[in-house]
Amino acid sequence: MSSNNSNSSSAAISGWNQYWHDLFVKFEGPYLPGRVCTVQKTRYEVMVQDGIISIPVSGAMKSKKMFPVVGDFVVVLNQPESVTRMIVAILPRKTALERGGAGDSAGKQVLAANVDTVFIVTEPGSDLSISRLERYLLISRSSGALPVIILNKSDTCSDITDQVEAIRSEIKGIPIIPVSAAEKSGLDNLNPYLGPEKTVVIIGSSGVGKSTLTNALIGEKLQEIGDIRDDDGRGRHTTTVRHLLSLPDGGSLIDTPGLREIRIWTAEESIAETFDDIQEYATQCRFSDCTHNDEPGCAVRQAIEDGVLNQDRFIRYRKILKEVSFEREKAEIGLKRFEKKKFREISKLSKEITLDRNARGGRL
Ligand code: GDP
Ligand code: ZN
Repeated sequence: MSSNNSNSSSAAISGWNQYWHDLFVKFEGPYLPGRVCTVQKTRYEVMVQDGIISIPVSGAMKSKKMFPVVGDFVVVLNQPESVTRMIVAILPRKTALERGGAGDSAGKQVLAANVDTVFIVTEPGSDLSISRLERYLLISRSSGALPVIILNKSDTCSDITDQVEAIRSEIKGIPIIPVSAAEKSGLDNLNPYLGPEKTVVIIGSSGVGKSTLTNALIGEKLQEIGDIRDDDGRGRHTTTVRHLLSLPDGGSLIDTPGLREIRIWTAEESIAETFDDIQEYATQCRFSDCTHNDEPGCAVRQAIEDGVLNQDRFIRYRKILKEVSFEREKAEIGLKRFEKKKFREISKLSKEITLDRNARGGRL
């Protein structure tokens, strides 16, 4: 059998298409294409044409600290005469959902690769928070994937279209889709994101219905995930929870604990995109380093005064900016030094308070 498989013969690999095929064929030799389904300690469950195998990465990759993540398309060495199959390369990632410091700082951790769409799940009612949605938007945008807002639990509310409009008035240009995962209604509207070759992840706060939605999308499929064949030939049966799941229409859903816990981490470019209107006003401020506090000629404050910029939105923008710079600082100077610096600041502050008190003759 030829080692470089044609596109069609790799159809069993979720998400595989011509794009990956073109990258894969550059590797000439006894190789198989595959996709990482689950990351274990030192082994990877990799979906290949004829099933799922559990294999390690090559020593060369290990020494270069090149470790695949769930969703990675990989090149698997498949020498019939050798006992061990292993991952020898990762095809360049199209998108990467990351957790870690902002910007380019070190300490980033890729949670999932090659995700096309991020379903940001929320629910109607008092818990619906625009600022939280904006944060999740930042997460998906910095990954390169397309965000879609899913307003779940539509069955619990009679004015779901009003709720959709309320979100739409604040968050522009993002699809907002009401569904009821529990009653399996409205799910058809998610189909455009779930077709063959598509990969989605579901993120959102606890309790909004991520598990319920996952189960509704996976359906019966969850039961027939397929054999895990251990490469030593012992045909071990493990009960590992698979992290890349196949959807009935041929797409894939990535669900890892890390993704479920994903919260806020950001990148400046994404902020610029999410708050592009504010950044646009800021370019018209008299001073280029305007902090929009009390400088003269501040176009941002003017826009708020004129009623063209929502003050709450501006406050949220500031809050996120502050978090980003805090995150960056933490990553850049390291947690230890950060804490030292904080301690110095606190002692400086207390010194200032003491001086101030002394100046006032000991009165507080
Ligand atoms: P997760 O923490 O985001 O994974 O949320 P779960 O999927 O565990 O759901 C949290 C709770 O919300 C559970 O009690 C679900 O039964 C309920 N729930 C999920 N989806 C819906 C829905 O569409 N409608 C209603 N009424 N309840 C839902
Ligand atoms: Zn300004």
